[in-house]
Amino acid sequence: MEEGLLQSKELYEYLLRTSVFPRESELLKEIRDITAKHPLSTMGTAPDSGQMVAMLLKLLNAKNTLEIGVFTGYSLLLTALTIPDDGRITAIDPDRKAYDMGLPVIKKAGVEHKINFIESPALPVLDKLLEDRKNESSFDFAYVDADKINYKNYHERVLKLLKIGGVVVYDNTLWYGTVAMPEKSVPEDLVSYRGHIVELNKRLAGDTRVQIVQIPLGDGMTVCRRVC
Ligand code: SAH
Ligand code: CA
Repeated sequence: MEEGLLQSKELYEYLLRTSVFPRESELLKEIRDITAKHPLSTMGTAPDSGQMVAMLLKLLNAKNTLEIGVFTGYSLLLTALTIPDDGRITAIDPDRKAYDMGLPVIKKAGVEHKINFIESPALPVLDKLLEDRKNESSFDFAYVDADKINYKNYHERVLKLLKIGGVVVYDNTLWYGTVAMPEKSVPEDLVSYRGHIVELNKRLAGDTRVQIVQIPLGDGMTVCRRVC
């Protein structure tokens, strides 16, 4: 999981220990344990961010959702456990291997029927969805947690797919805290995406089509509600 951005590690651990872990489903914990064996395990959605996503899904009564960037399925299972039995998640990721790691837990949870996993980069899938007019303004919720380079491209498409009043959440919008660092002190492995995140944050702040709130949970997440 991703590390928090709070002022100290102790404070983040306090938050997790007090309010997050006691409420986390055993099945989600299982996915987290499986994910810990993956070399890129730090990409998994932070459980505190997960709680926020579940809250939003419930507040929205979300039924038809989109996920871009599935990895081993933490946020996917969380969504599948939260939406109603006849809800539907269109989940896109080119990495089927990572998805397969968490799939046994999704099956055990009895929620696989809500998931349409599409093994592909997301852009062509979004464009295909938009070819069919009935997909426009049809999604209640979208979670975007994939290649940061394309967030701005996802944003334009996702806004068309969301209903007015629907919500899109962008994950990692504080990019390990590097958005506030002078560029020369940014660790090398974080440099390439940093500029894209900084750009996205500016773009979202100026986008009057959405109401936004940037939340310092997990690695930072920006919640955008389509207003027109
Ligand atoms: N939401 C996941 C974490 C996603 S990590 C969780 O809760 O664990 C980022 C994922 O984005 C990776 O699995 C990667 O394969 C995927 N990704 C990378 N490029 C992508 C693209 N062009 N389209 C869709 N997914 C992509
Ligand atoms: Ca993430």
